[in-house]
Amino acid sequence: MIKAKKSLGQNFLKSNSILKEIVVAGEISQNDFVLEIGPGKGALTEKILETGAKVLAVEKDSRLISFLEEKFSKEISDEQLKIVEYDILYFDINKNLPTKYKLVANIPYYITGQIIEKFLSAEKQPGVAVLLVQKEVLDRIVSREGKESILSISVKAYCTPKYIKKVPARYFSPQPKVDSAILKLKNISKKVFEENNVSEKDFFTIVKKGFSHKRKVLISNLKEGVDTREIENKFEQCGLDKKIRAEKLSVENWICLSK
Ligand code: SAM
Repeated sequence: MIKAKKSLGQNFLKSNSILKEIVVAGEISQNDFVLEIGPGKGALTEKILETGAKVLAVEKDSRLISFLEEKFSKEISDEQLKIVEYDILYFDINKNLPTKYKLVANIPYYITGQIIEKFLSAEKQPGVAVLLVQKEVLDRIVSREGKESILSISVKAYCTPKYIKKVPARYFSPQPKVDSAILKLKNISKKVFEENNVSEKDFFTIVKKGFSHKRKVLISNLKEGVDTREIENKFEQCGLDKKIRAEKLSVENWICLSK
């Protein structure tokens, strides 16, 4: 028996209905190419394969590779599935994926932010992503207007995040301390940057600066190292109140400030 490794975020999903809902949320069909991060013991892989889609599964834990190779020997020899032992954070998206692909995964929570950032900012972005994440992280991403964070603004700049369903901790083995939820990222693109002629780098520099001191109003955070009058003019141009806090700004507001 393979013992779950806490350090690799191994909480295996044991609910058949949730596994099916992830696949349904991804609208996966025979014509799709799916990247799965962390197949684990293959519970989700199996459901994706049932749709007829092609799957590339990237797993860091070497102990699971031979288990998966044995479990899916038929799909591997049919070239429907490829299993790669690799760390997803070092995975070369451009080199290893087709132009059109979907990202579907019950991801290891210790690298949630890094995975989302890597795939949304990639040159080859997924058409859609369905990720099982900690519920509390999902709540922050789909936060209502006026309660934004660096994470929610970063995600909303690239796509439309959607809350699909809560997944209670008891549906996993071993059981984690917190509940999870299915997050769907739709309409993924870099349109907002391209249409406004704003570089991603400039956008994120200003967003990070804006959120740097939580207690300060936005203008104080942005003033550091910049001419005060220039910033005040910019606020007026963007229709922003001088007392506004970073969490109140929308993606459009940040785009205006970045220009
Ligand atoms: N997909 C399985 C399921 O739903 O039961 C397992 C999900 S488990 C939450 C996360 C999986 O990601 C584990 O199999 C773990 O070994 C793998 N993993 C952890 N860190 C990784 C990394 N950096 N790159 C690739 N896989 C990783």
